[in-house]
Amino acid sequence: MQYSNIVQQVLELARQASEAPDSAARQLIEKDLRTFLKTLKAAEIYMLATLMYLGRDGGGVAGLMDRYQQMSDSFGTPERAIDQMLTKNGLHKYLRNSLKTLETAGIEVDSLLTTHIDSPLALLNSSDDVELSLGPWCCDRCGQVISKPEHGLLQWLTRSNDGHCIGRDLQIVHVNHASPLGLPNGCCPDPSEEFARDGSGHSDVPLHWMLEPDGLVRLLAFIEEGEFPAKEVSRIMMRLLIPGYETAKPYFQKAIDAGIVDDELPKDYFFQSQLGDIVANIPKLEK
Ligand SMILES: [Zn+2]
Repeated sequence: MQYSNIVQQVLELARQASEAPDSAARQLIEKDLRTFLKTLKAAEIYMLATLMYLGRDGGGVAGLMDRYQQMSDSFGTPERAIDQMLTKNGLHKYLRNSLKTLETAGIEVDSLLTTHIDSPLALLNSSDDVELSLGPWCCDRCGQVISKPEHGLLQWLTRSNDGHCIGRDLQIVHVNHASPLGLPNGCCPDPSEEFARDGSGHSDVPLHWMLEPDGLVRLLAFIEEGEFPAKEVSRIMMRLLIPGYETAKPYFQKAIDAGIVDDELPKDYFFQSQLGDIVANIPKLEK
């Protein structure tokens, strides 16, 4: 949907809510409005909030993108921006005012998020320019790079309870000889301390083995046996086996907030094209 249509839709629902005959009718329309707002990308929501304040507080369009930036920083999440907009009785009037201001300044609403100078979505790097690869990995213990599979381990702790295995601390770490933390245990936990805590024993397998079909079977068996929650294993699987995942991982939330990718899939799940978009725009996301 074009951005101008989105703004019109919000304006119309807000107008209907303000003219509702009673509070029950108003609440119903506001519910529709909230549902619609929740389908939008973060950048679209922050821009709506920016336009709302432009229409309420007046002033020109100079600095509009600075205001957008302040808006996305101060709200932090699109949900908070939505809450803020829905508390404003004059939302439709404010949006109408800001549309007039934009028109007077000769700025197309549809250009705000895509081609306008300084726009968050303008001039994004293309994912065509990046090749997604497996690794390097980030050590879950020391936070440093595991530059090649031979320098890493998948390690976990497990104990037996009524014939069932209960696992914990499934993580990707440096192998001892490559660990920046040094001997005796490097980036692995101290086996005697962990055993003393709850009787758990330490297990590990080389990272390069985990990248083979047998590694995938090992992880699937964790889920089958209930040794680890599926949610935990699936994150490790994607880190090990999905090209670009580990590189893009530190930027997931920033990329959603900036509107570079949307969050149509469950949290932390992204298709290859989305991971490509994130990796290609890491320099922008680091600013
Ligand atoms: Zn480490």
